[in-house]
Amino acid sequence: MNISTSRSRAGHADCTAPTLSIVVPMFNEEDVLPILFDRLGQFLENLGESYEIICVNDGSTDGTAGILADMHAGDNRIKVMNFSRNFGKEIALTAGLDVASGLTVVPIDADLQDPPELIETFLEKWREGYDVVYAVRHRRDTDTAVKRWSAIKFYQIINRLSGVPIPANTGDFRLMDQRVVRSISRLREHNRFMKGLFAWVGFRHAEVFYDRPERAAGQTKFNYWRLWNFALDGITGFSTVPLRIAGYIGMLTALAAIIYGLFLTMRTLIHGVDVPGYASLMVAVLLIGGLQLVVLGVIGEYLGRLFDEARKRPLYIVESSLGLSAGDDGST
Ligand code: UDP
Ligand code: MG
Repeated sequence: MNISTSRSRAGHADCTAPTLSIVVPMFNEEDVLPILFDRLGQFLENLGESYEIICVNDGSTDGTAGILADMHAGDNRIKVMNFSRNFGKEIALTAGLDVASGLTVVPIDADLQDPPELIETFLEKWREGYDVVYAVRHRRDTDTAVKRWSAIKFYQIINRLSGVPIPANTGDFRLMDQRVVRSISRLREHNRFMKGLFAWVGFRHAEVFYDRPERAAGQTKFNYWRLWNFALDGITGFSTVPLRIAGYIGMLTALAAIIYGLFLTMRTLIHGVDVPGYASLMVAVLLIGGLQLVVLGVIGEYLGRLFDEARKRPLYIVESSLGLSAGDDGST
């Protein structure tokens, strides 16, 4: 099939579909919003493509909702979804993808760490026939050494453990064809590690390199504890290898116990009963007890997540929306 035909036919179901849907998750971003809309708006006007901007207000407690309402009143291409509380970035992104109507969808951070200008290159690649075009960070100069090191380790670990390769140094900043977005919207798991879900659905992809700038204003919402939990979500969501490792730990300790048991039996038979042994007893009891707790903890991680999924709660609750069809609560 000719690619250019497929691109022009892609929107046949809805001829009013804009070329671009920009999805912006926001949590207490009042400081950065004026700069964001200024730069994004200017860029999109120059680009000359039809577009919509979907702002997902992830339960902000500052003036974000008010600013968004004003923006919508001034330009109805700016659409707003207000969550009833903070659900987290991954869920906010999901909600945005659920309602995006464009032929292509680009999630972008509110703090301008994802330069909008890159979207032009994304679109070029999309027109060449790629379904997903993602931005890869050249360097991480703006991150601290610890963050850089932990990011490298994280990608190494997750790519060894999970079945689908997750490209390193990418964020959520990417352009996706509507087919890809529809596929992702069908994945309703609660443990939403978006980078993993993006990778899981597949499709033809291309990379674009860029330098990630500092946050334009305001504060980061991710501290190390949140990042650590994010990493755990990623690993448990995309791999059951830790469970297998737990099994191996059990087998190895059992094997060691058998060998040591045989040795002790032989020694007792040959040399008779040997009472002292407090140290070795303590070491063995503590070691095995510790290992059991670790293994239980690993199982618990998975069990907890299973429980989370089993409740089948909607992913998010929408309190109000502007310019979007109402009643969407992510339960589809
Ligand atoms: N964000 C969100 N909900 C949250 C935390 C963050 O929607 O619970 C949004 C935030 O407003 C921003 C994006 O996610 O648009 C990235 O957040 P941030 O810049 O704080 O993360 P960092 O770039 O430091 O990883
Ligand atoms: Mg940021």
